[in-house]
Amino acid sequence: MPADRLVIAIDGPSGSGKSTTAREVARRLGLSYLDTGAMYRAVAVAFLDAGVSPADTAAVIEATTSAAIELSLDPDERWVRVNGRDVTEQIREPRTAQNVSAVATIAECRADMVRRQRALMDADPRGCVAEGRDITTVVYPDADLRVLLTASPEARLRRRSGDLGGKVSEEQLRDQVLRRDADDSKLVEFQTAAEGVHLIDTSDMTLTEVVDAITTLAEEARP
Ligand code: C5P
Repeated sequence: MPADRLVIAIDGPSGSGKSTTAREVARRLGLSYLDTGAMYRAVAVAFLDAGVSPADTAAVIEATTSAAIELSLDPDERWVRVNGRDVTEQIREPRTAQNVSAVATIAECRADMVRRQRALMDADPRGCVAEGRDITTVVYPDADLRVLLTASPEARLRRRSGDLGGKVSEEQLRDQVLRRDADDSKLVEFQTAAEGVHLIDTSDMTLTEVVDAITTLAEEARP
């Protein structure tokens, strides 16, 4: 591995702006980009399509550990495949968001995802920017730079509504942001920063301001 390889871990709740931010940081610094949420979502699509009930823990574990997941690590390309099928659009559907926490709240599924994510983050010799809920704490606690993005519930609801093009009801929106964060918090702590993790509250910041802040920290952290 080159001595100047750079690994950046970014965590945060839904609507904190972490995907857009991480993608842009990766572009600017010429690193690969890993959207770990897309992997959990791809597994949710796989088990739903196989007719597995989210309540059937053993079957969800089997569907997770046996899923072949491929996804773009290029910040300028967006595609995800599961078991050979393109699910780029499907992973963003409300049905997927409603069921993804079933995967995220099973310890065996998380262990499998963490192992794969760590390998994907090590794949590019230049380094990687990865974002999710447990990258700073579990997947890559030894990253050169670790950041937790937070934002007020109002800002998060507003952003997620924008992401979804205003096409979902108020109820679906609250489900996708607040209910999902509550469920996701059961096994992972991503609302408070662990020791050594930089906390950035993005509620009143523009995307450019957040990206600038992270790239500045990254230059300081470069090995
Ligand atoms: O970030 P995104 O909203 O796409 O994540 C989808 C879901 O995947 C989250 O709601 C959470 O259940 C799960 N997730 C996780 N750990 C990660 C990334 C995502 O549990 N590192």
